[in-house]
Amino acid sequence: MQQFKDTFKHKGRRRQLIMELAQMGIADERILNAFDAIPRHFFLDLAFDEQAYTNMAFQIGSNQTISHPYTVAFQTQLLEIERGMKVLEIGTGSGFQSAVLCQLGAKVYSIERHQPLHLKAKQVLAHFKFYPSLFFGDGYKGNRVYAPYDRIIVTCGAPEIPSVLIEQLKPGGIMVIPVGEGSEQKMLRIQKNESCQIDTQEFGTFKFVPMLERTVKTQSKN
Ligand code: SAH
Repeated sequence: MQQFKDTFKHKGRRRQLIMELAQMGIADERILNAFDAIPRHFFLDLAFDEQAYTNMAFQIGSNQTISHPYTVAFQTQLLEIERGMKVLEIGTGSGFQSAVLCQLGAKVYSIERHQPLHLKAKQVLAHFKFYPSLFFGDGYKGNRVYAPYDRIIVTCGAPEIPSVLIEQLKPGGIMVIPVGEGSEQKMLRIQKNESCQIDTQEFGTFKFVPMLERTVKTQSKN
Protein backbone atom coordinates (compact mmCIF):
# COMPACT_ATOMS: atom_id res chain seq x y z
CA MET A 1 0.00 0.00 0.00
CA GLN A 2 1.24 3.46 -0.86
CA GLN A 3 2.35 5.66 2.00
CA PHE A 4 2.25 9.42 1.75
CA LYS A 5 5.14 10.58 3.92
CA ASP A 6 7.28 13.40 2.65
CA THR A 7 10.42 13.55 4.78
CA PHE A 8 13.30 16.07 4.77
CA LYS A 9 15.32 13.44 2.92
CA HIS A 10 12.70 13.29 0.15
CA LYS A 11 12.57 17.10 0.00
CA GLY A 12 16.37 17.30 -0.20
CA ARG A 13 16.54 14.75 -3.01
CA ARG A 14 13.77 16.59 -4.82
CA ARG A 15 15.74 19.87 -4.66
CA GLN A 16 18.75 18.06 -6.09
CA LEU A 17 16.66 16.69 -8.96
CA ILE A 18 15.25 20.17 -9.67
CA MET A 19 18.78 21.58 -9.90
CA GLU A 20 19.65 18.78 -12.30
CA LEU A 21 16.60 19.52 -14.45
CA ALA A 22 17.51 23.22 -14.53
CA GLN A 23 21.05 22.33 -15.65
CA MET A 24 19.61 20.08 -18.35
CA GLY A 25 17.73 23.05 -19.83
CA ILE A 26 14.38 23.19 -18.07
CA ALA A 27 14.15 26.96 -17.74
CA ASP A 28 10.46 27.40 -16.91
CA GLU A 29 10.33 28.20 -13.17
CA ARG A 30 6.69 27.17 -12.97
CA ILE A 31 7.60 23.65 -14.05
CA LEU A 32 10.49 23.43 -11.57
CA ASN A 33 8.15 24.68 -8.82
CA ALA A 34 5.58 22.05 -9.78
CA PHE A 35 8.26 19.35 -9.42
CA ASP A 36 8.98 20.72 -5.96
CA ALA A 37 5.30 20.71 -4.99
CA ILE A 38 4.59 17.15 -6.14
CA PRO A 39 6.46 14.34 -4.36
CA ARG A 40 7.28 11.87 -7.16
CA HIS A 41 7.76 9.04 -4.67
CA PHE A 42 3.99 9.09 -3.94
CA PHE A 43 3.51 7.72 -7.46
CA LEU A 44 5.94 4.83 -7.03
CA ASP A 45 6.02 1.62 -5.05
CA LEU A 46 7.83 1.80 -1.75
CA ALA A 47 10.62 -0.33 -3.26
CA PHE A 48 11.65 2.67 -5.38
CA ASP A 49 11.44 5.20 -2.55
CA GLU A 50 15.23 5.70 -2.38
CA GLN A 51 15.61 6.28 -6.13
CA ALA A 52 12.42 8.26 -6.76
CA TYR A 53 14.40 11.47 -7.38
CA THR A 54 16.99 10.05 -9.73
CA ASN A 55 16.47 10.74 -13.39
CA MET A 56 15.13 7.28 -14.13
CA ALA A 57 12.00 5.49 -15.25
CA PHE A 58 10.49 2.82 -12.94
CA GLN A 59 7.96 0.02 -13.19
CA ILE A 60 4.49 1.09 -12.09
CA GLY A 61 2.68 -2.23 -12.69
CA SER A 62 0.93 -3.67 -15.75
CA ASN A 63 4.41 -3.79 -17.36
CA GLN A 64 4.44 0.01 -17.74
CA THR A 65 6.82 2.70 -16.50
CA ILE A 66 6.57 6.21 -15.08
CA SER A 67 8.45 8.55 -17.47
CA HIS A 68 11.87 9.99 -16.52
CA PRO A 69 11.52 13.28 -14.64
CA TYR A 70 13.44 15.05 -17.41
CA THR A 71 11.06 13.67 -20.05
CA VAL A 72 8.02 14.87 -18.08
CA ALA A 73 9.59 18.30 -17.59
CA PHE A 74 10.69 18.52 -21.24
CA GLN A 75 7.30 17.54 -22.69
CA THR A 76 5.59 19.94 -20.28
CA GLN A 77 7.90 22.77 -21.33
CA LEU A 78 7.15 22.14 -25.02
CA LEU A 79 3.42 22.35 -24.26
CA GLU A 80 3.58 25.99 -23.02
CA ILE A 81 0.72 25.52 -20.57
CA GLU A 82 -1.34 28.49 -19.37
CA ARG A 83 -3.81 28.37 -16.50
CA GLY A 84 -7.28 27.16 -17.51
CA MET A 85 -6.17 25.40 -20.69
CA LYS A 86 -7.92 22.15 -21.62
CA VAL A 87 -5.24 19.46 -21.89
CA LEU A 88 -5.74 15.91 -23.13
CA GLU A 89 -3.16 13.34 -22.03
CA ILE A 90 -2.83 9.89 -23.61
CA GLY A 91 -1.28 7.45 -21.12
CA THR A 92 -2.17 8.40 -17.52
CA GLY A 93 0.21 5.72 -16.18
CA SER A 94 1.17 6.64 -12.62
CA GLY A 95 -0.63 10.00 -12.80
CA PHE A 96 2.56 12.01 -12.21
CA GLN A 97 2.39 13.91 -15.51
CA SER A 98 -1.31 14.67 -14.86
CA ALA A 99 -0.38 16.03 -11.43
CA VAL A 100 2.23 18.37 -12.95
CA LEU A 101 -0.35 19.64 -15.45
CA CYS A 102 -2.96 20.15 -12.70
CA GLN A 103 -0.39 22.01 -10.59
CA LEU A 104 0.16 24.37 -13.56
CA GLY A 105 -3.56 25.14 -13.54
CA ALA A 106 -4.58 23.08 -16.57
CA LYS A 107 -7.94 21.36 -16.86
CA VAL A 108 -6.76 17.82 -17.46
CA TYR A 109 -8.42 14.94 -19.32
CA SER A 110 -6.33 11.78 -19.30
CA ILE A 111 -6.84 8.32 -20.83
CA GLU A 112 -5.23 5.03 -19.75
CA ARG A 113 -5.70 1.62 -21.39
CA HIS A 114 -4.75 -0.42 -18.28
CA GLN A 115 -7.56 -0.40 -15.75
CA PRO A 116 -5.42 -1.07 -12.62
CA LEU A 117 -3.21 1.93 -13.47
CA HIS A 118 -6.23 4.10 -14.20
CA LEU A 119 -7.72 3.26 -10.78
CA LYS A 120 -4.47 3.73 -8.89
CA ALA A 121 -3.72 7.10 -10.51
CA LYS A 122 -7.17 8.31 -9.48
CA GLN A 123 -6.41 7.51 -5.83
CA VAL A 124 -2.99 9.16 -5.77
CA LEU A 125 -4.24 12.31 -7.50
CA ALA A 126 -7.13 12.62 -5.05
CA HIS A 127 -4.55 12.71 -2.26
CA PHE A 128 -3.28 16.00 -3.78
CA LYS A 129 -6.89 17.16 -4.15
CA PHE A 130 -6.42 17.07 -7.92
CA TYR A 131 -9.51 15.81 -9.72
CA PRO A 132 -8.65 15.60 -13.42
CA SER A 133 -11.11 13.73 -15.64
CA LEU A 134 -9.58 10.27 -15.90
CA PHE A 135 -10.81 7.74 -18.44
CA PHE A 136 -10.19 4.04 -18.85
CA GLY A 137 -10.07 3.55 -22.61
CA ASP A 138 -8.09 3.60 -25.83
CA GLY A 139 -6.26 6.86 -26.30
CA TYR A 140 -5.96 6.36 -30.07
CA LYS A 141 -9.49 7.67 -30.29
CA GLY A 142 -8.85 10.66 -28.03
CA ASN A 143 -12.02 11.88 -26.37
CA ARG A 144 -14.50 13.62 -28.64
CA VAL A 145 -16.86 14.57 -25.82
CA TYR A 146 -14.60 17.30 -24.43
CA ALA A 147 -12.80 18.22 -27.68
CA PRO A 148 -11.30 20.46 -28.92
CA TYR A 149 -8.28 20.73 -26.62
CA ASP A 150 -5.79 23.59 -26.27
CA ARG A 151 -3.04 21.06 -25.75
CA ILE A 152 -2.55 17.31 -26.28
CA ILE A 153 0.30 15.32 -24.74
CA VAL A 154 1.01 11.71 -25.65
CA THR A 155 3.18 9.89 -23.09
CA CYS A 156 3.63 6.60 -24.96
CA GLY A 157 5.49 6.00 -28.21
CA ALA A 158 3.10 6.31 -31.15
CA PRO A 159 3.90 4.42 -34.38
CA GLU A 160 2.46 7.40 -36.27
CA ILE A 161 0.57 10.61 -35.50
CA PRO A 162 -3.05 9.60 -34.83
CA SER A 163 -5.12 11.81 -37.16
CA VAL A 164 -8.05 11.76 -34.71
CA LEU A 165 -5.88 13.57 -32.17
CA ILE A 166 -4.99 16.28 -34.71
CA GLU A 167 -8.71 16.70 -35.34
CA GLN A 168 -9.34 17.12 -31.61
CA LEU A 169 -6.71 19.88 -31.31
CA LYS A 170 -7.96 23.50 -31.26
CA PRO A 171 -6.79 25.89 -33.99
CA GLY A 172 -3.80 27.58 -32.32
CA GLY A 173 -3.23 24.43 -30.26
CA ILE A 174 -0.08 22.39 -29.59
CA MET A 175 0.37 18.62 -29.45
CA VAL A 176 3.53 17.00 -28.07
CA ILE A 177 3.97 13.39 -29.12
CA PRO A 178 6.86 10.89 -29.32
CA VAL A 179 6.62 9.20 -32.72
CA GLY A 180 8.44 6.15 -34.00
CA GLU A 181 8.22 2.38 -34.18
CA GLY A 182 10.58 0.22 -32.14
CA SER A 183 12.31 1.28 -28.94
CA GLU A 184 13.08 4.92 -29.83
CA GLN A 185 10.92 7.81 -30.83
CA LYS A 186 11.37 11.37 -32.06
CA MET A 187 9.75 14.00 -29.88
CA LEU A 188 7.48 16.07 -32.10
CA ARG A 189 5.74 19.35 -31.37
CA ILE A 190 2.82 19.81 -33.71
CA GLN A 191 1.26 23.25 -33.96
CA LYS A 192 -2.10 23.80 -35.60
CA ASN A 193 -2.50 27.39 -36.75
CA GLU A 194 -5.73 29.36 -36.91
CA SER A 195 -6.35 28.16 -40.48
CA CYS A 196 -5.79 24.57 -39.30
CA GLN A 197 -2.44 24.18 -41.06
CA ILE A 198 0.02 21.89 -39.32
CA ASP A 199 3.62 22.74 -38.51
CA THR A 200 5.86 20.01 -37.04
CA GLN A 201 9.15 20.47 -35.20
CA GLU A 202 11.45 17.75 -33.90
CA PHE A 203 13.10 17.78 -30.47
CA GLY A 204 15.46 14.82 -30.13
CA THR A 205 15.21 11.10 -29.41
CA PHE A 206 13.44 9.53 -26.42
CA LYS A 207 12.41 6.06 -25.24
CA PHE A 208 8.79 5.41 -24.35
CA VAL A 209 6.67 2.33 -23.78
CA PRO A 210 4.62 1.73 -26.95
CA MET A 211 1.19 3.16 -27.61
CA LEU A 212 -1.01 0.10 -28.07
CA GLU A 213 -4.62 -0.27 -29.14
CA ARG A 214 -7.44 -1.73 -27.06
CA THR A 215 -8.02 -1.66 -23.32
CA VAL A 216 -6.67 -4.13 -20.74
CA LYS A 217 -8.77 -4.81 -17.67
CA THR A 218 -6.78 -7.28 -15.62
CA GLN A 219 -3.43 -6.69 -13.96
CA SER A 220 -0.73 -8.22 -16.16
CA LYS A 221 2.49 -9.62 -14.67
CA ASN A 222 5.57 -7.36 -14.65
N1 SAH B 1 2.22 9.88 -18.12
C1 SAH B 1 2.62 8.66 -17.45
C2 SAH B 1 3.54 7.84 -18.32
C3 SAH B 1 3.20 6.38 -18.25
S1 SAH B 1 3.90 5.37 -19.50
C4 SAH B 1 3.21 8.95 -16.08
O1 SAH B 1 3.37 10.13 -15.74
O2 SAH B 1 3.45 8.02 -15.32
C5 SAH B 1 2.68 5.44 -20.78
C6 SAH B 1 1.31 4.91 -20.48
O3 SAH B 1 0.58 4.92 -21.69
C7 SAH B 1 1.24 3.48 -19.95
O4 SAH B 1 0.61 3.47 -18.70
C8 SAH B 1 0.41 2.74 -21.02
O5 SAH B 1 -0.45 1.75 -20.48
C9 SAH B 1 -0.38 3.88 -21.65
N2 SAH B 1 -0.88 3.61 -23.00
C10 SAH B 1 -0.29 2.95 -24.02
N3 SAH B 1 -1.09 2.93 -25.10
C11 SAH B 1 -2.24 3.58 -24.76
C12 SAH B 1 -3.46 3.87 -25.44
N4 SAH B 1 -3.68 3.48 -26.69
N5 SAH B 1 -4.41 4.55 -24.76
C13 SAH B 1 -4.22 4.95 -23.48
N6 SAH B 1 -3.09 4.70 -22.78
C14 SAH B 1 -2.10 4.03 -23.41
